[in-house]
Amino acid sequence: MEEKFCCARLGIRHNAPREAGMNFRVVKYHPDGRLDKTNLYRFYFTPGYAPDDAKVMHINIRYCPFCGTDLYEYYNTDDFINEEPGFF
Ligand SMILES: [Zn+2]
Repeated sequence: MEEKFCCARLGIRHNAPREAGMNFRVVKYHPDGRLDKTNLYRFYFTPGYAPDDAKVMHINIRYCPFCGTDLYEYYNTDDFINEEPGFF
């Protein structure tokens, strides 16, 4: 399935490798251990990191910083997952 982003600028950050500067990561958490099971996706901006980094700097966001889209509403399918929960 072709990925369709809320805007091109966020799409570029999503497709950027995790090591390559500011990037947008989408993580889906397992329902076990989550109090709120209605939405298991979380959205992060990071300054870039390696897979073996112990502490990954990140900021948890709800709205697209470029176009204002509500990420919880827009990115609610597995098609956009690009990171595992263990990183954050
Ligand atoms: Zn956007």
